[in-house]
Amino acid sequence: MTVIVVGAGISGVTAAIELKTRGHKVILVDPGPVPHPLAASTDISKAVRAAYGPDEDYTALAERSIPIWREWNRKFGTELYHETGVLFVCRQPMRPGDFEFESARVLEKHRHPFERFEATEFHQRFPAFAQERFHDGFFDPEAGFAESGRVVATLVDYAKSLGVELRENTKVTALNEGSNSVKGVLLENGHFIDGDAVVVAAGAWTPYLLQETKAFFRATGHPVFHLKPPRPELFRPERFPFFGADISTTGFYGFPLNQGVVKIANHGGGREMSPDSAERVVTAEEENNLRVFLRSTIPSLADAPIVYTRICMYCDTNDGDLWIASDPKRPNLIISTGDCGHGFKFAPVLGEITADAVEGNPNPTLKKFRWRPEVKAGEMKEAARFEG
Ligand SMILES: Cc1cc2nc3c(=O)[nH]c(=O)nc-3n(C[C@H](O)[C@H](O)[C@H](O)COP(=O)(O)OP(=O)(O)OC[C@H]3O[C@@H](n4cnc5c(N)ncnc54)[C@H](O)[C@@H]3O)c2cc1C
Repeated sequence: MTVIVVGAGISGVTAAIELKTRGHKVILVDPGPVPHPLAASTDISKAVRAAYGPDEDYTALAERSIPIWREWNRKFGTELYHETGVLFVCRQPMRPGDFEFESARVLEKHRHPFERFEATEFHQRFPAFAQERFHDGFFDPEAGFAESGRVVATLVDYAKSLGVELRENTKVTALNEGSNSVKGVLLENGHFIDGDAVVVAAGAWTPYLLQETKAFFRATGHPVFHLKPPRPELFRPERFPFFGADISTTGFYGFPLNQGVVKIANHGGGREMSPDSAERVVTAEEENNLRVFLRSTIPSLADAPIVYTRICMYCDTNDGDLWIASDPKRPNLIISTGDCGHGFKFAPVLGEITADAVEGNPNPTLKKFRWRPEVKAGEMKEAARFEG
């Protein structure tokens, strides 16, 4: 088939590589230079975790992805994925139903190694955190973070080397509709690209490109801060791994020192907005919330200079699960998005899942990511997500 992939973020480029590998002709279209500076995938780091509260599907998907992340480091001859471990800590003892308790229970069940919190050694081992702040949690050594922007750049080069036709600086403005299928896409310059199938992987732009999907996709903006630590030695990965601090009730998480900065962000409700909106800047309130959090939790960063901020966009679904499915009314239209702020870690398996949706192959994961307009907002959420 000739497959047009709209969007060269991680969802699009992994789909393009897998479809090309399966012998299809692939045209990958993106309005930016790729990696697109405003894309969610274009960042210095994204967490790779198997801890997903009670949701064993995501833990299993992460456990399939992590060995491939390691393999990608070898295959591409550069450390894109840093297995520095992840730390989830909480102020109260872990209780059944909590994100931390359920994550530890599932990790144990999956025989995934993890170390339970030990109050006496915690502060010696992770000195940047305020003493006496946390009283329970766990460290998962087989996890870490990926340098997402570099991952996309590396995969785009790889896709091109396989023969994927990349059309940069090219924006799709509409689908070229047939009776009960799509014939291709219309570009901003008025030209058409014809194809046998179209994969829309336009991230948070999807509900703006395909207006009818606003019923089940919402673009939300989330603040990201890069801070210059006064004592960088406290923030090296072995002393300050990726962490979630009561993440499901505060939203706050952060990364070790990387490219000279410590990144702190919030996995919360966010602000609904178009990815191209002028509102896409961090507010004084968001910065103040950060400072309050740091003062109580990571004191040595409380007054650290902020060297960069960004509003990064989620494409939210009504239940917090990804969306990789063909449209029942137009089966050769496949939408691969709905990241809800947690899809990057699955990059090693995303392409296969999307290609199976394009080819109509049975894939158990597609059940979870199926076309589900019947699911209403508020019914469920991703376990680590803070709804505030
Ligand atoms: C603040 C924040 C923190 C996150 N942290 C994590 C994390 O720690 N771990 C994790 O696993 N995930 C995380 N995520 C989620 C992760 O970033 C996403 O799952 C992933 O990047 C989504 O990739 P995508 O390709 O679907 O979208 P994007 O990366 O946004 O790519 C979409 C692409 O579509 C293109 N496009 C848009 N409109 C058009 C058009 N009309 N025509 C053609 N192309 C178009 C854009 O230019 C862009 O390149 C986070 C996200 C955010 C916002």
